[in-house]
Amino acid sequence: MRRPVAAVWPGSDALDESFLNPVPLSGVRGSGIISVDVEDYFHVQAFAKGIDRTSWIAYPSRVEQNTLHILDLFDELNVKATFFILGWVADYFPGLVREIIARGHEPACHSYWHRLVYELSPEQFQRDTARAKDAIEQAGGARVYGYRAPSFSITANSSWALDSLRQLGFLYDSSIFPIEHDVYGFRDAPRGPFRLETPFGDLLEFPLATFRFSRGPALPIAGGGYLRMLPRWYTRMGVRRAWLEGLTVVSYVHPWEFDPLQPKMNGPLRSRLRHYTNLSQTESRLRELIALGNFTGFRHSGLANFFPYSLLQTVGSQ
Ligand SMILES: [Zn+2]
Repeated sequence: MRRPVAAVWPGSDALDESFLNPVPLSGVRGSGIISVDVEDYFHVQAFAKGIDRTSWIAYPSRVEQNTLHILDLFDELNVKATFFILGWVADYFPGLVREIIARGHEPACHSYWHRLVYELSPEQFQRDTARAKDAIEQAGGARVYGYRAPSFSITANSSWALDSLRQLGFLYDSSIFPIEHDVYGFRDAPRGPFRLETPFGDLLEFPLATFRFSRGPALPIAGGGYLRMLPRWYTRMGVRRAWLEGLTVVSYVHPWEFDPLQPKMNGPLRSRLRHYTNLSQTESRLRELIALGNFTGFRHSGLANFFPYSLLQTVGSQ
């Protein structure tokens, strides 16, 4: 009889990073970005097929309480962050946008209806984004400069959206994930911050965090499901390897990832695994990540001030 195979993920935390990496990395520190994509559990792409967007209002919302929990955590850790807010959330919870700003964080835009950019026409994208930006700015009484696409859906097929963002007045974007993935991914994009020329002016791009083993493919680290589900040693090792490359580690979390008690949704098994695994560990894993280096929001980092470009060219590399 075959012996049962041990569960890989919970047990694999027992392995130390030195198992894969003979070079001592423990002293390596660097800088990173903490961002929060402010959306509710029923907004996510994982369950989008079964939910009509006009019915969102019928679901019991938990975005406000979960975001307030994150704000308290950041106060305790003395960390500033960037909050990419769904326009729909800004319309229904304008007080939450004001609270994010009042606590010293940066408001930014995560679209209005959480639709994948590569499924929209340029006109639809422009309408959705303009509506979201306006909703967030009206709610918060502050200008919005940053954008993150739902499910990182600015890919090689929808890179036209970057011109549109600059035209709408955005100064930076953080939607490109330079990896291979079934929903998103822009494999050949630079892995560190870079500047793009558009017909409407320059736009800064901050790709999501990755690391590499030697000449291997870029691997995702330190955000969302990767932070929540992959072994803790993988996050530590990957983040430190990214810093050895001179990269800025751009991390992200969602309010629903801090909420094990959220109502359970129907959806494909893979979606449910991605959405519900280790929700009770998100906070402790985020605390560990923040302790590894110097984390802050985009605007607070100085990178999004747009000046000087020469600074950006020294941060990050191909
Ligand atoms: Zn999202």
